[in-house]
Amino acid sequence: MINFEYARASDVADAVRQIAADPKAKFIAGGTNLIDLMKDDVERPSRLIDISRLPLNKIEAIPGDGVRIGALVPNSDLAYHPLIEQRYPLLASAIVAGASAQLRNMASSGGNLLQRTRCYYFYDTATPCNKREPGSGCSALKGLNRMHAILGTSEACIATHPSDMCVALAALEARVHVQGPAGERLIAFADFHRLPENTPQHDTTLQSNEIITAIELPPRGFERNYTYLKIRDRLSYAFALVSVAAALELDGEIIKDARIALGGVAHKPWRNADAEAALTGQAAHEAAFAHAADLLIHGAKGFEHNAFKIDLARRAIIRALTQAANGTPQSQTNKKIR
Ligand SMILES: Cc1cc2nc3c(=O)[nH]c(=O)nc-3n(C[C@H](O)[C@H](O)[C@H](O)COP(=O)(O)OP(=O)(O)OC[C@H]3O[C@@H](n4cnc5c(N)ncnc54)[C@H](O)[C@@H]3O)c2cc1C
Ligand code: SF4
Repeated sequence: MINFEYARASDVADAVRQIAADPKAKFIAGGTNLIDLMKDDVERPSRLIDISRLPLNKIEAIPGDGVRIGALVPNSDLAYHPLIEQRYPLLASAIVAGASAQLRNMASSGGNLLQRTRCYYFYDTATPCNKREPGSGCSALKGLNRMHAILGTSEACIATHPSDMCVALAALEARVHVQGPAGERLIAFADFHRLPENTPQHDTTLQSNEIITAIELPPRGFERNYTYLKIRDRLSYAFALVSVAAALELDGEIIKDARIALGGVAHKPWRNADAEAALTGQAAHEAAFAHAADLLIHGAKGFEHNAFKIDLARRAIIRALTQAANGTPQSQTNKKIR
């Protein structure tokens, strides 16, 4: 048993005040990740600050044609909201590719960004893990590493970020609104999650005394040519081995703009500006897609059980870009089920 206090935040300022006053406290939103981590003795918060009733549950169009998503909007409400389905179907597809209908009903948008890795050793407190216990070592480096990263790894950690939603948000270049004792700040999605380097215990650049209040989508949603392709061991209820969020803006068959983000391969959604620039001005054909895929996975390094991911990622990128160019969304596996 872990003894902990429970308190409800009355508003955002109160939530910030409470978390700033106790460095061992944690916010709880849907609880779908945090409660599991507490049951496994990975997280031992002194106090749970319940933010689930804060008024951060709206999805609204904002001046300048973007969309603001409150941090407490459940994943399923987000995926099925008309603004998202019509203008950002890449995001809707990525969300419904994740977890199960029941989990998506509970999971919040802010919590999705902050879910922890699914590395088996992170959840197993009998094994060394630098992310859980800095300086103890990384059991995955020479252990079971089939699900692990091939890009941006370090000697300290080879874990992946497990989210699907975040892969689409990276491709769409969302921004994250946060509030802390010093006030509000806006974080570009590319700067929100970090690579492990020597401090894998820090997944993101969010400070421990800050709360996510919203996610902002820019005007462009790439609603005509997009695909979220998720390769996994089972057709549902499984984390990605490799996933690809691909979005194209076409003028006839010429690519005017391209976005590609990978999931399941790194500690954060993986993008590479060179790969996207190489597609611009090219005809939307396989040769251009293959070249972009090579650039995107440049520097990939496999470990004993996951080297297959390098070729898998390359082929998935080409397939996702081909589907996007054809205006074909994700295959039938992402049927919308509430
Ligand atoms: C069996 C299972 C399968 C899953 N499969 C997938 C999958 O295939 N793809 C996928 O993408 N996800 C998957 N998930 C993960 C799921 O999407 C996340 O657990 C969920 O999004 C987390 O949201 P939550 O509101 O429940 O977070 P919580 O568990 O409440 O919180 C998670 C963390 O975020 C912090 N937090 C929450 N909200 C805020 C905020 N507003 N500001 C600051 N900190 C905050 C909490 O303190 C905690 O540290 C799966 C989960 C489970 C249990
Ligand atoms: S890969 Fe990262 S999370 Fe997994 S055991 Fe190594 S340090 Fe821990």
